[in-house]
Amino acid sequence: MGGEVIKIDADLSAIREVQAVGGDTLKKCYQCATCATVCPLSPDEAPFPRKQMILAQWGFKEKLLKDPTVWLCHQCGDCNKYCPRDAKPGDVFAALRLLVIREVMPFKILYSLCNNLWGLPILALIGLFFILFWTVLLFGGVPNFADPNSFPYGGGYYKVWFLELPARVLMIDIIFMPLAGFIAVVLLTGISKLWNNYVETFNILPAYRYRWWQIVKMYLWPAIKEILNHQRFEKCNVNNWRTTPHQMLLYAFIILAITTAIVFFMADILGFHTPWNPLTHPVKWLGNIGGILLIYGSLNMIAGRTRASMENYLKNSYPDLFLMYLILVVGLTGFGIVICRSIEFINFLTAFFYIAHLVAVFILFISVGYSKLAHLAFRTTAVVFDLYYKDILKKVS
Ligand code: SF4
Ligand code: SF4
Repeated sequence: MGGEVIKIDADLSAIREVQAVGGDTLKKCYQCATCATVCPLSPDEAPFPRKQMILAQWGFKEKLLKDPTVWLCHQCGDCNKYCPRDAKPGDVFAALRLLVIREVMPFKILYSLCNNLWGLPILALIGLFFILFWTVLLFGGVPNFADPNSFPYGGGYYKVWFLELPARVLMIDIIFMPLAGFIAVVLLTGISKLWNNYVETFNILPAYRYRWWQIVKMYLWPAIKEILNHQRFEKCNVNNWRTTPHQMLLYAFIILAITTAIVFFMADILGFHTPWNPLTHPVKWLGNIGGILLIYGSLNMIAGRTRASMENYLKNSYPDLFLMYLILVVGLTGFGIVICRSIEFINFLTAFFYIAHLVAVFILFISVGYSKLAHLAFRTTAVVFDLYYKDILKKVS
């Protein structure tokens, strides 16, 4: 009599958390393995998502947090279509990814604010508070919001070290530079935690535990090339419509990041502060192209996901809707500023769109670390680990 006692690290609250953020079909799975067979991204040597479905059903949170396949799934929905129990493993994986974000990122309140409807007004109010606070301080009181020459294009200049900055530029710098720095630091913390989890799970031998810069040099660029080309997305069948809009959104973010860097250099460092004409200035045109891609990508994602949800191939949970509509609002308010500035009789609305745009961008910055958008960092980490681990297997075989 008597046998080995198996210790189970089941976490029942983790099951509820997965169910709460879109994985409510989790319990329907009866382990037939159809999903792992039809998944176009599942490798033969470590098939998914069947195994992760049972781990999630049992609340094996620790194991799931250390499993890169959670990120290698691209939510194509092929498994959702063929699952005989309608357990929607693709959507359960999306919920698991949110759980990973929550676990590896510090300041978990920001995760809650980004992934619950009640958090949206709070985020908006925090953003609005910072913007109005610095507006009043830097514009010397409450400006005339109906006059663009008072706000945002008024307020005088400030001498900061060797720089001569207009009030609106200084306001943006004061709010967004520390915010960007904060998000970069917390993301690096999360990436490092995730990477160490993978190294520990796969028991990587010390001889193959390279320094971070070696990993970056050897595997990050191939991973980025793969992501830019959307090679894994293209293998999806049921929802392969996602490839183009998702790629457009990725390129939009890259273009807008480049534009912001150029504007920062030219305006903040070189001092070209005049409000550049959005219709004639080349940097503004680059920004306009990024904005068009942003609106095109987000509208297509919203339409495609709504269709897929009606056909029962994908589910739209709050975190999905939050991100898609947030990106759309960023794009629309950005163009709202351009249009209001260019048309005389709606000129008085410029400040409204300007403030709405800054609030949306403020929320977007936080979302980079705490919403589904964090997949930019964490999926890249998992793809890099995937390439690294395959390379090690080749070397030891
Ligand atoms: S999720 Fe569906 S297809 Fe996959 S093992 Fe469970 S029941 Fe089968
Ligand atoms: S959603 Fe697609 S990639 Fe993800 S597990 Fe299902 S079939 Fe595989």
